[in-house]
Amino acid sequence: LFKMKLLHARHTESPKLQACEIRARLSMHKIDHLIYNARLLQLTAASKLTTIDDGAIAIEDGLIAWIGPQSQMPTKWRKQAKHATNLRGALLTPGLIDAHTHAVFTGDRAGEFARRLDGESYADISRSGGGIMASVRAVREQSEDALVLASTNRLGELLANGVTTIEIKSGYGLSFADEAKQLAAAKRCADELGLQVQRTYLALHALPPEFAGRRGAFVDTVANIWLPDLHHRGLVDAVDVFMEHIAFNEFECMQVLSAAKSLGLPIKIHADQLKHSGGGALAAQLRALSADHLEYTSAADVAAMAKAGVVAGILPVAWYQLGDFQKPPIKALRQHAVPMMVASDLNPGTAPCTSLRLAMNMACVLFGLTVEEAIRGVTVNAAKALGLIDRGSLETGLRADFAVWEVQDPAELVYWMGGQFCRQTWIGGQQLQSR
Ligand SMILES: [Zn+2]
Repeated sequence: LFKMKLLHARHTESPKLQACEIRARLSMHKIDHLIYNARLLQLTAASKLTTIDDGAIAIEDGLIAWIGPQSQMPTKWRKQAKHATNLRGALLTPGLIDAHTHAVFTGDRAGEFARRLDGESYADISRSGGGIMASVRAVREQSEDALVLASTNRLGELLANGVTTIEIKSGYGLSFADEAKQLAAAKRCADELGLQVQRTYLALHALPPEFAGRRGAFVDTVANIWLPDLHHRGLVDAVDVFMEHIAFNEFECMQVLSAAKSLGLPIKIHADQLKHSGGGALAAQLRALSADHLEYTSAADVAAMAKAGVVAGILPVAWYQLGDFQKPPIKALRQHAVPMMVASDLNPGTAPCTSLRLAMNMACVLFGLTVEEAIRGVTVNAAKALGLIDRGSLETGLRADFAVWEVQDPAELVYWMGGQFCRQTWIGGQQLQSR
């Protein structure tokens, strides 16, 4: 009830009223956990990046019940709190959110990577059975248990680097049973680690061999049979499509995304990565949560995305790995105030990257994002890209999902390429990991 009240207060009532209610609540009950001597990262949809030095956070029922400078905290709380943690000046940020991954798979594609470096083209490798189909074969061959076993370590690496919420897409099954298996495995991996997960059914990724020459039948089956059934089984939080000249066209994507919308599911699009295929525009038209990649998205499409409230997913790792030249239209996205999300895009083909911080560094160095934009991209805007209103910043009423870092300046999170600076992760008010 307290959780609901806090969220309700946050979204409907004045901050003053909300603060009163929380103070009253905290004076009556013991605080579950008090974190003090922390440098708190402050960054919201409306505010610029700042820090509160000597900050404190009171956690109640897994939520941030109070946050502010220690000097403003009632002194008796130190004694009242059931548990207290002294962070000795360490930086505390919201738990990072990796809002675009294909993290559940078996079998890497290191062999293909070597072949590409030997001069073979991606198209030739695909024609000889490589590419997405190689991952599809690998996933189909494995049991759900084997998938969980193979993927949990990867997710553990993200967690060790401060990620507390991850989005995981299916799309390497391409049959009903194998897509269901991948989505089920995603939840099990996350649960094993205590990670928060959002599952996206990547409904149109590649044409399965069983439907060779029958594209229409495949799209029909996905839209009218598989999608409603997967949704009915509670396996789907959102639906995604790969809209590209080498994948699926606007008409096909529209059919599946409309079906998703009619089921009340939010949608996402892999848009304009290799050519201007109109994915950004379609995302705006259908009011998608996010359109991701966007290398070839036009300024007009960006304007439409801004109007429709679509988040721009910036995925520099695939761009880097493919040796691409065309960069996403960062200037236009900025001009139109489109929120930018940054993600690892972790996948075996084009982004074998288990560090969200490396993706942040690449977004800055390769695409010209600022440090603040990169941090915003894995916190506030990443939450928005997943349609989650209960996380992404350090504010009263939001989930107590944190990462604690052994760095002085928030810019170091983006500056260092590598390094293990995450000392603790907290999810729902519980400390998961400590170094
Ligand atoms: Zn992707």
